[in-house]
Amino acid sequence: MIASFQYPKSTVSEGFLAYSFSWEFTQVDNPSLTYPGAYRRVTVELKIHHLAVNALLKSSQIDEIEGGITLDHDNDSGFDEASSCAPAFRVLKQLIQRCIADAVASGNIFADAVLQHLYRWICSPASKLHDPAIHRVLHKVMKKIFALLLSELRKLGATIVFANFFKIIIDTGKLDLSAARAYCDCLLKAVQARDLFEWIELEPLQFWHSLLFMDQYNYGGILDKAEVQSSSDDTINEPQVDIISSWNIAEYLPKETQDHFILVVSEFLYIPWKYLLEQTALRTTGRDGTSCTQSITVAAAENLESCITEYLKDQVGIGHYFKSYSNLLGCFHCSNCFLLLWQISKYFTEKLLRIVNDILQHFKRNRTDTINAATNESSRPSGPNVHTSDPALEFIKHVCAVLALDQDVQHDILRMRKNLLKLVRVKEFAPEAQFHDPCPSFTLPNVICSYCNDCRDLDLCRDSALLEHEWRCAVPQCGQPYPREQMENGLLQIVRQREKLYHLQDLVCVRCRGIKADHLAEQCGCGGSFRCKEDSSEFQSRMQLFLKVAAGQKFQFLHDCVSWILEVR
Ligand SMILES: [Zn+2]
Ligand SMILES: [Zn+2]
Repeated sequence: MIASFQYPKSTVSEGFLAYSFSWEFTQVDNPSLTYPGAYRRVTVELKIHHLAVNALLKSSQIDEIEGGITLDHDNDSGFDEASSCAPAFRVLKQLIQRCIADAVASGNIFADAVLQHLYRWICSPASKLHDPAIHRVLHKVMKKIFALLLSELRKLGATIVFANFFKIIIDTGKLDLSAARAYCDCLLKAVQARDLFEWIELEPLQFWHSLLFMDQYNYGGILDKAEVQSSSDDTINEPQVDIISSWNIAEYLPKETQDHFILVVSEFLYIPWKYLLEQTALRTTGRDGTSCTQSITVAAAENLESCITEYLKDQVGIGHYFKSYSNLLGCFHCSNCFLLLWQISKYFTEKLLRIVNDILQHFKRNRTDTINAATNESSRPSGPNVHTSDPALEFIKHVCAVLALDQDVQHDILRMRKNLLKLVRVKEFAPEAQFHDPCPSFTLPNVICSYCNDCRDLDLCRDSALLEHEWRCAVPQCGQPYPREQMENGLLQIVRQREKLYHLQDLVCVRCRGIKADHLAEQCGCGGSFRCKEDSSEFQSRMQLFLKVAAGQKFQFLHDCVSWILEVR
């Protein structure tokens, strides 16, 4: 199918060569949306099933919505791959339509199996159903459906926290778990009712009471542990929870400070949540017992509220946050709240100041040892836990970056950060005080479990399970080992493709940034000289990444190949 493409020879557009060669492989990039922040209300993680089947069946509708751009059948330029594979795409669609009819009408298990495995077969180069062009067209339609699904969810009042082809995390905006569950059911029913999403199934995986989300590999949260919804005990008992800390960036902190980091971040999640829980309980009991006195104290409460607002402005810490929450609950009239607010507002600042002091003391004591060991240190391979800069500074940067995710208290956190940085004698806006994610990232898209068909994008550098050499399906009930050889092969293909792209890259003019069109010209028309579009150091750092993955996972062939590429330069 690829051989039948006609390249227009007269035009040389930017990256033309690179584009034509990238056709040889089906490496597609799955979209991934991340909205970092602190979500203090119930969030739910939804797993998406059957996106590919739905996309295939609804492709003509998408085509209509888009005005025929996706599957343009009458494109006469011959350059459009969608038009060249349109007949095959139609046949595939008919097959799936018939399978759906069979599976629904007569419960045919073979038809069902075809539907279950469709996307894996289309993705896998070893499969007979695999065709790069069809895969790309289907992927394009999937992207459109996915975007429409997200906008539908937003229209229904959900806030997207994170979304990719395999899962969506949404903020329900509810404080109460049962309300969130009801909202979630309602939301899913509404989505299912839309004809465009007829075959998509959204399965609620888990509920979070509170979630601090940086990205897919850096988050912490209070996870609801109740497996089944117990209707009777739900209101009386305290909800069963787990505090989850999944911070990949913490791996890059010095060992001694990692526990402090996890503790502070967990408390940052837990204390406000606990407070909220207590206040909710207080409010409900208050309504039962002392409902008559409440009306009297309203005026007094308003007075007190303004006083406290003034007072809290002078405080450093997260007082502001509690103020907004207390307003929400309307419970400023009890002195207990006031005391608690005052205690907590200073809590994190004091705690962090103490920890940073401890770290400074600790490392000052060990400095002499470190200097003695420095000669051995330099010869060690660079792993996650090898730190080069000041441990106290690293700790401050990491903790503040995470705490500042909460928009409500960002100002307080930044002020606290300034004070903490004073301790290590670093200026607030100095380049070394800026936080960068220390971990490089490489994503292998569409890794599909051959047993349970769970599909995911694997980040080979940041996925904690992979780093522990467990190349297994992450679905708790499955755990099927991934085919290592296939994955190594996939990585090898990517390495070779990148190398090829590097060698075939365009030359750009230094002066006017135009692409070199002639073969033999030494200079651009404007008089500027040419340089490579992709810098060699950039390419090399990419290859180093693959070398690290290969060494970590003991992929011998990949290791040889990449080290050979690096040697040549
Ligand atoms: Zn599996
Ligand atoms: Zn030029």
